[in-house]
Amino acid sequence: MGMQKPPGLKLVDENLRRIDGRRLDELRPIKMKVGVLNRADGSAYVEWGKNKILVAVYGPRELHPRYMQDPTKAVVRARYNMAPFSTEERVKPGPTRRSVEISKLIAEMFSGIIFIEEFPRSAIDIFIEVLQADAGTRTAGITAASLALADAGIPMRGLVTACAAGKIDGYVVLDLNKEEDNYGEADMPMAMLVKENRIVYWQMDGQMTEEEVRTAMKMVKDACEKIYEMQKEALKRKYVDLEGL
Ligand code: ADP
Repeated sequence: MGMQKPPGLKLVDENLRRIDGRRLDELRPIKMKVGVLNRADGSAYVEWGKNKILVAVYGPRELHPRYMQDPTKAVVRARYNMAPFSTEERVKPGPTRRSVEISKLIAEMFSGIIFIEEFPRSAIDIFIEVLQADAGTRTAGITAASLALADAGIPMRGLVTACAAGKIDGYVVLDLNKEEDNYGEADMPMAMLVKENRIVYWQMDGQMTEEEVRTAMKMVKDACEKIYEMQKEALKRKYVDLEGL
């Protein structure tokens, strides 16, 4: 968002195709794998377009230091982190304003999804590691995190599924890539509890009209329903693979 578009660059052509050939409401290719790390309680790896994201979940386990414990429920902590090699320009290691904000929102969101009252004095830790970034990393990260939580056997109201929509060259489009995010007019990441048809996370950068926001939300909803099916398949695949051993 907000970068000066090179003169003559068209993000949507006359056939309503985007630079990478996608239609306005088309997702990038998505691959998911559950249970990829031996030492985490739960884990998942997602490739979403050029994004590559690994998530590890630990817990529920006793929270230390003890004064931080909540005697009535588990504390959910999240760390969204971009690897130094994840973008074209090296990212300085360590937390940034952006990563701290994303981490906090993700932790708060999952606190409302996980049955935290079942685990007093405990911590549940979610580590989202962005290995390669190409826009939409927080939504891919949330989608992967809910798989890792399920893999850890942590009881939740349901799987959370996330995706973004936005506006480029005046068109509302699904799932912006880096170029579209750089030169576009708006980006709206959203996460849903598809099972309950409920929005659990919503942000917007840039500007859209009320009608455009409605169109974007409908696009994300339809996409989340597809991604939710992929998530369930990825979880099933893990257990089918185990049966084959
Ligand atoms: P998201 O990845 O969730 O869409 P943003 O819209 O804030 O988040 O960022 C869009 C993209 O910009 C990221 O996916 C990444 O490719 C790039 N980006 C973000 N932060 C940095 C950074 N510090 N250095 C280089 N590129 C970055």
